[in-house]
Amino acid sequence: MSNDADVIVVGAGLAGLVAATELADAGKRVIVVDQEGEQNLGGQAFWSLGGLFLVDTPEQRRLGIKDSHDLALQDWMGTAGFDREEDHWPKKWAEAYVAFAAGEKRGWLQAMGHRLFPVVGWAERGGYDAMGHGNSVPRFHITWGTGPGVVEPFERRAREHAKTGRITFKFRHRVDALDMTNGAATGVSGKLLEPSSEARGESSSRVETGDFSLKAQAVIVASGGIGGNHDLVRQNWPKRLGAPPKFMVAGVPAHVDGRMIGITEAAGARLINRDRMWHYVEGVRNWAPIWPGHGIRILPGPSSMWFDATGKRLPSPLYPGYDTLGQLEYIMRTGYDYSWFILTQSIIKKEFGLSGSEQNPDLTGKSWRQVIRRAGAKGGPEPVEAFKNKGADFIVRDNLEDLVAAMNKLGGANLLDPAFIRMQIEARDREIDNPYVKDSQVMGIHNARRYIGDKLIRTAKPHKILDPAHGPLIAVKLNILTRKTLGGFETDLDARAFGNDGNIIPGLYAVGEAAGFGGGGVHGYRALEGTFLGGCLFSGRNAGRAVAKAVL
Ligand SMILES: Cc1cc2nc3c(=O)[nH]c(=O)nc-3n(C[C@H](O)[C@H](O)[C@H](O)COP(=O)(O)OP(=O)(O)OC[C@H]3O[C@@H](n4cnc5c(N)ncnc54)[C@H](O)[C@@H]3O)c2cc1C
Repeated sequence: MSNDADVIVVGAGLAGLVAATELADAGKRVIVVDQEGEQNLGGQAFWSLGGLFLVDTPEQRRLGIKDSHDLALQDWMGTAGFDREEDHWPKKWAEAYVAFAAGEKRGWLQAMGHRLFPVVGWAERGGYDAMGHGNSVPRFHITWGTGPGVVEPFERRAREHAKTGRITFKFRHRVDALDMTNGAATGVSGKLLEPSSEARGESSSRVETGDFSLKAQAVIVASGGIGGNHDLVRQNWPKRLGAPPKFMVAGVPAHVDGRMIGITEAAGARLINRDRMWHYVEGVRNWAPIWPGHGIRILPGPSSMWFDATGKRLPSPLYPGYDTLGQLEYIMRTGYDYSWFILTQSIIKKEFGLSGSEQNPDLTGKSWRQVIRRAGAKGGPEPVEAFKNKGADFIVRDNLEDLVAAMNKLGGANLLDPAFIRMQIEARDREIDNPYVKDSQVMGIHNARRYIGDKLIRTAKPHKILDPAHGPLIAVKLNILTRKTLGGFETDLDARAFGNDGNIIPGLYAVGEAAGFGGGGVHGYRALEGTFLGGCLFSGRNAGRAVAKAVL
């Protein structure tokens, strides 16, 4: 039977688009199938903040940041903590990816019209020693135009190829099986779904209207992770983190359903590191949800005080923006699946960011005027103020006793003793008078403000939390928010998938989140941030170029 195309790509998210455009550039005929409608082109990347991990860039140098490939690799390895036999390929991907981030990545994107916001962010600061977890320096480069700005060059290239017939999109095609012939992947089959008129990101119907089957020389699985399927998240929850949370908010749309992971596994591909995931601990319920259980991640600066559900301050170095997995481990050990920030109006104004393209209209809309207005506004950025006023997890009060009473009401179990909270805040506040102090969170605030980027837009001037001049006081109930799947299909550097017998499965490739962003888990246990979109770009590009050579 003749083939329908040279290559089939499952998933029109970022990784799939990158692979497809590289293939089409090389003259190959590609079919891209996606279960969602055309309005969802770009998948999760569209909703993202567009933060990219880049190393030793002109943006960093302009801000006085001295970064290098060696420093970034040291940070990556200290963060990943690779410790398993199956980390062989993930580690090779990590080395190759850091070299890409310190080398070709910025120029490759720039040549396609991609641009960066000039202030580099400092995510996952670690707080351990030089060989431990975290970014030694700021490396989180936000795309001018956020997520849509990352997708745009690939969408443009793909649509150009669609005009010449090199790329054919087949939306509302849900793959239910990989077709295998003599041990090789030779196509996909599944169900046609009824057309959907839902807006981007909203759940679409699963009503089937027919069957389809497509044949090609190779299949690239680019179907994303499992974060939208909380049953799967709980099923794969790592034993080392205890019981999975009872309540979680969803940081990804429902199409991140993990179904294709099971389908690809059933075809014989080897799924590794399934217990490694990257979920955030600063999730708040969206007051204007787009997808089911929609949660938004707060991107916090370093000054909010962090308390567990019983009112105990999180220990050093579990401060906002330092160590996501460490915080998750700590919170799950408390027996509760939430925690609290207590902060001031001065802190929320300068330090709260919200992850997501729709939460950053100034950057997404590429509007310098709005960016300047955000910086000069009396309150916080508009989307943050909207959460403060309308979000179910936000409490604003003029004094601490009223604040804690409202926190107890929202928590529902009267776990917080106002006197104990006051004692801890007053103790921290006494550390503010000197620039050299004992409290390591306050030390971290001083450290952050030595970086011009943080001083300008991310770290409030040190002040006492209980100083009414910086009020009102704000408490935020923080939920666990599901987001990234760090494990995935084991692949070599050409993105060729291994079978359970340790041999490459001819014709089968995996990229993006489905491949743990490269190799089956390029991040190991933890991420340095901005590395997910980057992993989709790098693995999609590697796969596209390798498959172009492999097919006739
Ligand atoms: C709000 C938000 C903010 C983020 N911010 C950042 C950031 O700043 N920096 C960063 O690095 N990362 C960020 N990320 C993560 C990043 O966006 C994702 O990890 C990445 O875009 C995943 O891309 P992908 O192509 O692998 O998968 P996806 O985008 O999930 O695309 C997979 C596609 O496959 C389709 N599909 C799945 N199963 C099937 C099937 N059986 N048949 C047919 N089609 C199927 C899906 O419908 C989907 O369109 C963020 C994510 C979100 C949601």
